[in-house]
Parts: sequence; C-alpha cells; structure tokens
Amino acid sequence: MIILGVEFTAHTFGVGIVTDKGKVLANIYDSYTTDSGGMLPDDVVEHHKEVSEKILGRALQEAEVTWDDISIISYSAGPGLDPALWTGYEIVKKWSAEYAKKLVGINHPAAHLSIGKMWNKLQDPCYLYVSGVNTQVIVFEGDKYRVMGETLDIGLGNMLDKFGRTIGLGFPAGPKIEELALKGKYIALPYSVKGMDVSFSGILTKIQQLFAKGISKEDLCFSLQETCFAMATEVTERAMAHTNKKELVLVGGVGANKRFCSMLQQMCKDRGAVFCNVPMSLARDNGAMIAWEGYLRRNESGDIKVNSHWRIDEI
Ligand code: AMP
Ligand code: MG
Repeated sequence: MIILGVEFTAHTFGVGIVTDKGKVLANIYDSYTTDSGGMLPDDVVEHHKEVSEKILGRALQEAEVTWDDISIISYSAGPGLDPALWTGYEIVKKWSAEYAKKLVGINHPAAHLSIGKMWNKLQDPCYLYVSGVNTQVIVFEGDKYRVMGETLDIGLGNMLDKFGRTIGLGFPAGPKIEELALKGKYIALPYSVKGMDVSFSGILTKIQQLFAKGISKEDLCFSLQETCFAMATEVTERAMAHTNKKELVLVGGVGANKRFCSMLQQMCKDRGAVFCNVPMSLARDNGAMIAWEGYLRRNESGDIKVNSHWRIDEI
C-alpha cells in the first residue's frame, strides 16, 4: 500500500509518499519564510495555494509513482492556523475528488510522534515534542496519549522566533540563534519550571529588556538556549522517571538544535536510557509523517474536515 500525506497546518506545505512498511519514497515541502517580521496568516494562505500543485508534482516524480499507485490521501486536520487548515483542506478535497481517493484526516502532533517511533524502531518511548507552537512531554499510557508536561504559554520555537524578530533575524530564527549562541557566554535568566510545566513568556520579556540594555546578541542567544533547553530537559527527565520509560525521542523543528540534543543525550545516558531524534526532514513539519500516521489510522478516520484546537490527549 502507498499513502500520500499532505501537511499544511502552519508555515509548511508538504507532500510525502510512504509505503505501508514505512519506506519514505518522497518528502517534498516548501515553507513560508520572511527576512524580517513574523508569519502573516494571509501570506501563508497565498503560499500554500501557490505551491501545492508544484509540490505534489515533484513528490509523485521523486517517488516514481502515479495516482493509480496511491491508496489514500492522509492530511493534517489540526491543530494549526485556521486559515491555513481550511486552505489545505480545500486542496486535498479537490485531489480526493479528482483522483477518487479516500481522505484520512489525522492529528498533526500524533504524526510527529509516530514518525519518531517508527524511524527509530522504538517500543514505548517518552516523546518530547518541541516545534514552533508546541512544547510537550508525552507518553502513551492506558490506551491514550498523556501530556506529562507542557508549556503554559508559548511554544519554545515561537519564543525563539519572537526573540529573533526583536533582534532582526527573520523567520524562522531557531537556526540563526543556534549559530549566534556558539560565540556567547552565560548570563543569568529566569528559570521557569512550574511542577511538570514550563513557561517561556517571562523569559522572553526579560531577554528583550536585556537586549534593549545593550547585552550582546551572542550572549543572549547562548543564555536563552542554555536556560530553556535545561528547563525542557528537567521536566522530560522527571516524566521518564515517573513513567519508567527507557527511550526518549525528540521531534519537532527545535529538535534540529545540536545543543538541545546533547543535553538530552547526556540526561538519558545518566539514567541508562536511549536518546533518539529524527533527521530534520522528518523532525520538522512534513508530509511523510502525515502519510505514515494516515496509514496507522486508515481504518478509524476519514474526511473529518479540520479541527484547529485538536489536542494530542484526545487521541
Ligand atoms: P516545526 O513547527 O516543527 O516545523 O518547527 C519550527 C520551529 O523550529 C521554528 O520555531 C524554528 O525556529 C525552530 N527551529 C528550527 N531549527 C532550529 C534550530 N536549529 N534550533 C532551534 N530551533 C530551531
Ligand atoms: Mg509541527
């Protein structure tokens, strides 16, 4: 069976094609970016409309398949940016009608988790999902996903992007912050862990104030990474200890950060656990993970339209 998956919940429009054995035949995407300023919903809609057919064509070509080979179309039904979700849904609805393929709407965070588990051949991992919007520590217990800890306000990625906007880095800022951090030294920032949860908005305010006072970008980027990654590592360790999980997988775009990975790697090593991540092409928003989740859910889901506030713990 071959599954075509389509991602469009936020900045990325992606089409992935995978087999029922988890082989990724194609994973093509295009992301809305800016040189300065953040993500504007109207521009994201325009972006998705503009690139959809081109991305589809490239994916089919790379996978060396035609529509006849595709069994189902899986799509990201939410959560996400409402205008982006409806735009993407109209596109997959059109493809579904045109090529007579069943639609399978799936939960976007669940797709991030499933591809991380499949790619690393894990049994029962603790998941750390850190993307633009999301920062969650998740485990599967008693037949459902449980959020063990999460951000109480903005996601870690969004916080990096907002700080990046303040210092003129454009969107997405994460990779540029990682680079600047290599030349920075530590200055104290608020450390905001509340029980199993974390909070980033106070840190963002503080770091914006420090920037206004003339502290160097490098020092701020370094300190921001050290502080926020340590917070996420702390709650992840506590979740692993509590649930007795021996595997950790990091998913989401912030998972590309080498310093973050090395902190988590060290924590896992210290407790005799395995740390894994996934290649950036599968860690970030992409169509291949949507295709794989659609394959797993092919018998339980269908055309469910969109759901912009769909939480992982409803699954
Ligand atoms: P996603 O929503 O999963 O596609 O992830 C996008 C987020 O990942 C954005 O907030 C980026 O700034 C962030 N990101 C991407 N690369 C890095 C990196 N190397 N370090 C930190 N954050 C990153
Ligand atoms: Mg995502």
